[in-house]
Amino acid sequence: MMKQLLYKSTRGEGGVVDAAAAILQGIAPDGGLYVPAAIPAAAWPLEELAQLTYQELACRILSLYFTCFSREEIKEAVNKAYDAKFAVPEIAPLVTHNNIHFLELFHGPTLAFKDMALSILPHLLKLAAEKLGTGKEIVILTATSGDTGKAALEGFAGVAGTRIIVFFPQHGVSEVQKRQMITQTGDNTHVIGIEGNFDDAQSGVKAMFTDESLRRRLDSHGYLFSSANSINIGRLVPQIVYYYWAYLQLVRKGAIAAGEAVNMVVPTGNFGNILAAWYARSMGLPLARLICASNSNNVLFDFFTTGVYNRRRPFYVTISPSMDILVSSNLERLLYHAAGENSQLVRSWMEDLAQKGVYTLPPEVQNRLNAFAAGYASEEETKEAIRSLYAASGYLVDPHTAVGVFVLEKYRQESGDSLPAVVAATASPYKFPGAVLSALDPQFAGQDDFALFGELAKVTGIPVPPAAAGLEKRPVVHTTVCRREEMQQVVEDILGLAGR
Ligand SMILES: *Cc1c(COP(=O)(O)O)cnc(C)c1O
Repeated sequence: MMKQLLYKSTRGEGGVVDAAAAILQGIAPDGGLYVPAAIPAAAWPLEELAQLTYQELACRILSLYFTCFSREEIKEAVNKAYDAKFAVPEIAPLVTHNNIHFLELFHGPTLAFKDMALSILPHLLKLAAEKLGTGKEIVILTATSGDTGKAALEGFAGVAGTRIIVFFPQHGVSEVQKRQMITQTGDNTHVIGIEGNFDDAQSGVKAMFTDESLRRRLDSHGYLFSSANSINIGRLVPQIVYYYWAYLQLVRKGAIAAGEAVNMVVPTGNFGNILAAWYARSMGLPLARLICASNSNNVLFDFFTTGVYNRRRPFYVTISPSMDILVSSNLERLLYHAAGENSQLVRSWMEDLAQKGVYTLPPEVQNRLNAFAAGYASEEETKEAIRSLYAASGYLVDPHTAVGVFVLEKYRQESGDSLPAVVAATASPYKFPGAVLSALDPQFAGQDDFALFGELAKVTGIPVPPAAAGLEKRPVVHTTVCRREEMQQVVEDILGLAGR
């Protein structure tokens, strides 16, 4: 019998809970994020893991973290998640162009890496609800910078016993992202644009999660909030799997010997994806540097180079909108581990962040972050990365992945570090046709995204994926728009909480 792995809050209150409770709650009642009480080691030989399918590997990793579910339960969830809704049997193929390995995480139903975790989260939540016997309807409350929203809607649409409410920045997502969300079918789905940016949406959602009186009213109406954002540990753990998968594919292809170190480059916004890489590294995967790649919203670059996190700065709307974030929630988990699990320190930094917009790490904590390197790409540099990679290799990347490519090339030049490197390819170019094509040729600037699908098919040689085809013709079913201050009212209206 395996030892139970328990979870605790980064802010230190409320004791320990099992994985089921952590997944169901999404965020801890004290406002902190759940972290494993001890990061499990993956003791299997890499040569053995290299023989597994994606699904088999996922079962192994998930079993280490979700010890309150049986092997059979995890296997069933994994098999339901990673099936033919992914366009390729490898789920996340690794391809190599121009001396860069790309881990393609965008072959799921919504064409971005969010599908990797959000295709399994509904199954994990259902298991957790059964385990805890809540008998309540689960309300998934989600803020999105563009990609989480659609992936969560896909995952939860039509799932009995759940309802999903998504808030997205009305003017801060691509045309394709927006259209994907507002055309979502399913009686249990709600999509709302907000007059604000992702940080507004995320802080509004977090405030509702920790509002005790709202929680009580929900409870009396038979509802329970949970989260599909990467603040939910049930979303983070499935992301660990593909870092192993990337490494093992390199071994399988003979690009590296088992045990050799590689660098991992992750286009970053809310710090969830790269944190999953850090967990993989902490479990024993031979990753050398984790390279955090930002766009012009380079708060994380400044943080890693100076130890000061300062969100008081201009907010830029970029061509990589899923990374337009100034408050990266998951950094709190890294800080907790780096500070020797000192939740009092974490609480003081988070209070400073909320009140003053800035906090500073003491040097001894900053020194413990040396697994990370950081860089950022301006808009022009992002476009140039798309253009030059395509010219050199014929491989076309989306703007988020391009930020990773630029940052890797700059890192290689400046550090002389020539280890093999994997860039997490986080979205399909089909999600951002205008941005991608106009990077290649300015004549495409300003054109309608949907009109460019055909052109993109010509350039990439890859047919328009079914998830994108005909998108512009689907009927719009969600038209609500609200301000940050109105978010809670909108939720209360949807759930019929008013007046009782
Ligand atoms: C969400 C997203 C990111 C950022 O991932 P985080 O986990 O928020 O750091 C990067 N690229 C794309 C395409 C995304 O959808």
